[in-house]
Amino acid sequence: MNLFLIKKTINYYRENKAIVVDTVVLIVAIITTGIYLHYAEATESFYEFTRKQEYYDLDEIILTIAISSFYLLIYTLRRFFELKRVMIQANTDPLIGILNRRKGSDLIKSAIDRSNLPGKPSSIIMFDIDNFKSINDTYGHDTGDYVLKKIASITKKESREFDVLIRWGGEEFMILCPKTNSDNAYNLAERLRKSIENHQFKDLTQITASFGVTALNHGESLKAQIDRADGNLYKSKKGGRNKVTKS
Ligand code: GH3
Ligand code: MG
Ligand code: MG
Repeated sequence: MNLFLIKKTINYYRENKAIVVDTVVLIVAIITTGIYLHYAEATESFYEFTRKQEYYDLDEIILTIAISSFYLLIYTLRRFFELKRVMIQANTDPLIGILNRRKGSDLIKSAIDRSNLPGKPSSIIMFDIDNFKSINDTYGHDTGDYVLKKIASITKKESREFDVLIRWGGEEFMILCPKTNSDNAYNLAERLRKSIENHQFKDLTQITASFGVTALNHGESLKAQIDRADGNLYKSKKGGRNKVTKS
């Protein structure tokens, strides 16, 4: 019975760690204030004739405010980091650890808004692994996952620091290329295509990907521009895969 209770308490702590820690900190703050006030009362009567009553009252008020503020500071900082962690989680793909489609769409929308500014053209590269289903079917889902992660790391190596890699769907990725016209985005896609084609993925057969590239136009909807990139990707697939198409 006792063991059961201990297990239950530990489980409760694991599931509600943040609430438990906050409560403990609050209790410590209250007890500390209580002890001080009690101590202050005692010293008050001891020094009754040497200090004015108002000084003791003031000391008590200041300390109570200080402890409450300290507690509030800890509480606020903990909420801040918690919120930050949750926000990162909401924007990240759990398998690969890169941005997910939700956050990626927001960034592309912002890039569209900026794309009419002088010297700020942006482009997107959409790419999809060729015959990925057969990789899963032949080598298993875990190997499929390994290929997805490896392709993400090859892409990061090939792209520039300011390019943004997004997991768009299952085995489909998007690269947002800020400050890049469609010709330069095409060159980056071509470099990446070759890099994937030449990479030896453990003892697997050759793996390739197909690409669709387009420049972002100010005033045009996100959907229309994604559809254009997707249409180009489709042309690369139709044209025999392991290709880059731009428009
Ligand atoms: P294509 O060359 O036309 O793109 O063919 P494909 O086989 O790559 O395309 P298809 O859409 O037929 O198959 C995509 C596969 O990707 C099916 C799905 O099970 C797999 N997939 C999607 N997400 C994941 C994932 O997170 N891990 C693994 N291992 N497989 C995934
Ligand atoms: Mg595919
Ligand atoms: Mg696909």
